[in-house]
Amino acid sequence: MTTSQRTLSIIKPDATRRNITGQINQRFESQGLRIVAQKKIRLSLAEAEKFYAIHKERPFFKDLCAFMCSGPIVVQVLEGDNAVLLNRQIMGATNPANADEGTIRKDFAESIEANSVHGSDSEESAHSEIQLFFSELEIVG
Ligand code: ADP
Ligand code: MG
Repeated sequence: MTTSQRTLSIIKPDATRRNITGQINQRFESQGLRIVAQKKIRLSLAEAEKFYAIHKERPFFKDLCAFMCSGPIVVQVLEGDNAVLLNRQIMGATNPANADEGTIRKDFAESIEANSVHGSDSEESAHSEIQLFFSELEIVG
């Protein structure tokens, strides 16, 4: 059974810095995800801390938030069948050393922190993460 879903994706500062947002978007589009909303923004430290609040007790939290503010990011809503899980598969494992061949993180990530992309990990987090960045009027399916 297939279910159309939306998920939040972020192209992180290491990728915008290297001018590879198009190459990353090509991975999504060629594997069945549609970009139904997209904008380039720069996060404040407070916004990065809010977005990653779930990780606030982790040792990498401070560095992660500083990294996410270090340059522009592209936030986007991806739509398609099983978009949450499909996007996680297209992204690959958090640590690029463990990522499968052909995944975005295997091919583009610089490190476990600067790993080029974020993707929601469940339908619930997709819903709240999309609301954090987009109004319904900005999403055009
Ligand atoms: P994912 O992005 O795959 O869902 P997590 O939610 O566990 O991974 O972590 C959020 C982000 O925090 C990762 O994408 C990565 O940028 C960073 N991160 C995770 N683990 C580490 C770590 N051990 N050291 C440094 N940064 C990390
Ligand atoms: Mg996560």
